[in-house]
Amino acid sequence: MAKRSTPKKQASNSQSTSRYKAFKNKAQKRLLNTTKLNKCPDCKEAKLQHAACPNCGKYNGRQVLNMQKDMDKITKVKA
Ligand SMILES: [Zn+2]
Repeated sequence: MAKRSTPKKQASNSQSTSRYKAFKNKAQKRLLNTTKLNKCPDCKEAKLQHAACPNCGKYNGRQVLNMQKDMDKITKVKA
């Protein structure tokens, strides 16, 4: 743990509140910016930015996910 000096005076309520609010706003903005949803140009479904569409498996106009294979894997039951 980092060594810190003891505070000379107790921080006032407004100082604590403003520090907390600044932290809260920053955290909220960071969370909002991390989860950006875009519309898929092919099926118009909501998808994450810089990720393949979970509905049709396309990214930048190309088919990158084999959706039928994934469905077979999920529905296949091992006996
Ligand atoms: Zn799509």
